[in-house]
Amino acid sequence: MAKEKACRRCKVITTGKVCPNCKSTDLSPDWSGIILVFDPAKSQVARTLDITTPNKYALKVS
Ligand SMILES: [Zn+2]
Repeated sequence: MAKEKACRRCKVITTGKVCPNCKSTDLSPDWSGIILVFDPAKSQVARTLDITTPNKYALKVS
């Protein structure tokens, strides 16, 4: 299984070296908690975290 990293800017979780969402390379291997957002408009969590794109996000990124 590939090591997943979380973007420090937008918290998207990715196995790549570049964030697929904001194109940042500022990725952290030290994260915890996963939020799956399918419909940001209907998700309270997504609104709280300012998420606008359906994706997999980390709850905490160090
Ligand atoms: Zn990002």
